[in-house]
Amino acid sequence: MNKSWHDTHKLRMPTTLPERVAWHEAHSKHCNCRKDLPKTIVAALKKQGKKVCSRGHVYNGTGSCSVC
Ligand SMILES: [Zn+2]
Ligand SMILES: [Zn+2]
Repeated sequence: MNKSWHDTHKLRMPTTLPERVAWHEAHSKHCNCRKDLPKTIVAALKKQGKKVCSRGHVYNGTGSCSVC
């Protein structure tokens, strides 16, 4: 877990869906503590043309996972 990233990227409640989507997208790039993204987040990312790999990284739908 990337503790320093978490310490500087705390989500304050209540949050909007776009805020949570942005948080999870950034989180997947900087930290790997949580594999599973909530279904609502995955659905929102798909609407933006993005994909989530089997390990929970968010990547652009036209490419492949940049982390794996
Ligand atoms: Zn994390
Ligand atoms: Zn991946």
